[in-house]
Amino acid sequence: MSKTLLRNILTIAIFLAISWAVMSIEQNDYDDHNPEMAGYFEGDIMPDFPTRNGFPNRKWPNNTIKYVFSSSFTEAQKETVRQCCRELENKTCVRCRETIFLDYEYVYIKNDPVGCSSQVGCQYTWVQIMNLGPNCLKNHVIVCHEFIHALGFSHAHNSYDRDDHVRINFENIKEGNGYNFEKKEDSLDCLVPYDRESAMGYGPYVFSKNGNETITPLDGNYTGMGQRNRIADSDIEKINRMYCFNNCTATTNTTTSTTTTTAATTTIL
Ligand SMILES: [Zn+2]
Repeated sequence: MSKTLLRNILTIAIFLAISWAVMSIEQNDYDDHNPEMAGYFEGDIMPDFPTRNGFPNRKWPNNTIKYVFSSSFTEAQKETVRQCCRELENKTCVRCRETIFLDYEYVYIKNDPVGCSSQVGCQYTWVQIMNLGPNCLKNHVIVCHEFIHALGFSHAHNSYDRDDHVRINFENIKEGNGYNFEKKEDSLDCLVPYDRESAMGYGPYVFSKNGNETITPLDGNYTGMGQRNRIADSDIEKINRMYCFNNCTATTNTTTSTTTTTAATTTIL
């Protein structure tokens, strides 16, 4: 068998393997009412093991998140993604790098018209999936919400300390969606407290079944809840503490002794 033939067969095999991986993850249901309500765990998080808000053990190697666009992105849409990357690169030590299909350990960004979704943290697999439908590309902060998931963070309202700041009204939550509000008792926020104005937060009516609030701020201040106009300073700080300063091991500021113990034993940097 000639080397050229062998190389061609190898290339086709690699292509088929990646296609299979992408296709197998595409088989999910979506709900397109809200671009981030894609029908996954907590709306836009692909099923995983999201037991914590921050996942220091899922950092991207070399602080670099690699990605590949599917062929359906327009240049303007790609530019919105790059705008998010520029802000992350300007404010943190995280780097984004567009790569090629045959690379390893990267995010394949699809553009299906079915909402926004991402896996949480680096999966350390050949390819992992993010979907950015057209509605997710209206501004770069929505894109960054998904990128921050991919960097290893869950939603703000799942933080272990959220009960100090908000009340979850379980009686108003759509049936079958209570799990979206599970508090991550063992979450590691790198000591950045709950922030109502985080770009990783949701508004007061998310997953409501009756038009009443599901998330109520205890101090009555709704300012910035669920905003997608800017990446909050707390979001940037979390990324920096996890990626740039390896500062997610401290156990003060936790709410219970159980949390303290768990946080201390599950930190892998
Ligand atoms: Zn999200």
